[in-house]
Amino acid sequence: MTDHTKGVLVGGEWRTGSRGVFDVVDPATLNLIAQVADAGPDDAIAAVDAAARAFPSWSATAPRARADLLMKTRELMLRDAEELAQLISVENGKSLADARAEVNYAAEFFRWFAEEAVRPHGDFGSSPAGGTRTIVTHHPVGVAALVTPWNFPAAMATRKIAPALAAGCTVVLKPAAETPLTALAVARLMIEAGVPDGVVNVVPGEDAAAIVAAWTEDPRVRKLSFTGSTNVGRQLLRQAADRVINTSMELGGNAPFVVTADADVDAAVEGAMIAKFRNGGQACTAANRFYVHEDVAAEFVAKLGARVEALEVGPAAEGSDIGPLISSRARQNVERVLENALAAGARIAHQSKPATAPGHFFTPVVLTDVPPEAAVVREESFAPIAPIVTWTDQEDMLAQVNSTEYGLAAYVFAGDLGAALRLSERIEAGMIGVNRGLVSDPSAPFGGVKQSGIGREGARIGLEEYTETQYFSVAW
Ligand code: NAD
Repeated sequence: MTDHTKGVLVGGEWRTGSRGVFDVVDPATLNLIAQVADAGPDDAIAAVDAAARAFPSWSATAPRARADLLMKTRELMLRDAEELAQLISVENGKSLADARAEVNYAAEFFRWFAEEAVRPHGDFGSSPAGGTRTIVTHHPVGVAALVTPWNFPAAMATRKIAPALAAGCTVVLKPAAETPLTALAVARLMIEAGVPDGVVNVVPGEDAAAIVAAWTEDPRVRKLSFTGSTNVGRQLLRQAADRVINTSMELGGNAPFVVTADADVDAAVEGAMIAKFRNGGQACTAANRFYVHEDVAAEFVAKLGARVEALEVGPAAEGSDIGPLISSRARQNVERVLENALAAGARIAHQSKPATAPGHFFTPVVLTDVPPEAAVVREESFAPIAPIVTWTDQEDMLAQVNSTEYGLAAYVFAGDLGAALRLSERIEAGMIGVNRGLVSDPSAPFGGVKQSGIGREGARIGLEEYTETQYFSVAW
């Protein structure tokens, strides 16, 4: 696995890209890691040709046989877990601990959907008037186009590939240009596992818009599953509308992290470290804004601050806790958001020691005295910034929590579980961590409400996203 595959994967063959190659750079050291085939629309269409050719036989393959191949892929991912984790770290920048956790999480989607693949659901009933029987079945939707971001280069790909294949679909995948190597490595393992040619095709490339437009315009593509920013998701929904393509959208978030007066503050701090600083804050589920009850705010800030000051920021290879941001553009954006907050009266209460490496590092900070209207609260910062807003009136706090166009994840820490659940029910979010800082779980439905997306990944519903329902009305 050390010689990473760097081509366009079409029909089981590794090809050159029609646009030459593009550079993949380690965001921690700014060193060139690899040059990867740069695909264009022709390659994107060739991938659909291969996926469409493979579909009849793959969709007719026995569910158990499909499941075995998914399970085998998981075993191979675990066999190569350390190499995959190194690869994720080097192209994405995240710490090795985060990268290892991602490999396990990513591999788990193959196990979960291998188990789901052999449990097809259907219905048999009779109409209320009698005289007919109703049979309801589910079928694979067809060729699925998958588009993934850079922040979880393994898991965002497997969370789509595994259910698609379990349902009987074939796929064309475009990984993010920042992190194509991990998806290519997973695809190579799928080939080693014995997944037939053309079932999984990978099209890396810098011109994302051209590749994906080739797919949304191709009548053979019946499904578009996208994970990324709300802006691009919106644009793809418009494109998909022309052919009324079945879409799933996993988009941006702005997760609130609520701490009530009776919360276990140590548990809340532990949860905050995971919800905020896992992946250096570059997670769609990352806690973006903290609403801490006035009575416990000083203790929460002091304890969280001590943990943040102890974080090691630097390249993953040096055993750091927090790596760099993905790009200089991301860093400039976060610096703007921080400056805006400071100008509006926020104060840096605690921060880590800055990294000394040359990459796109941003020093983690805990901010207090944050005005609720500051950009750091309103926008998805995608960075290790923890802005603390204090509250006393629950209704006011809830109004602030829900005053965002996003609704992906939220976190509630409270002593009384019943009160925590009643409060959580009033938060407009698809996923709520109750006294937990982590919501991602392959067996649970991942997804958001409002402008955080449409559809769910993981759980049973994650497979249903790749199926169509058909019913037979039968004279009886
Ligand atoms: P992005 O939207 O810029 O890119 C995502 C993918 O879309 C990449 O593969 C990119 O190459 C491609 N893309 C970009 N422009 C495109 C276009 N015009 N047409 C077609 N494809 C295009 O997002 P990002 O910066 O890579 O990822 C960060 C965002 O993703 C954040 O907003 C984050 O919250 C979100 N995200 C959401 C989830 C979720 O499950 N809801 C998970 C991870 C990340």
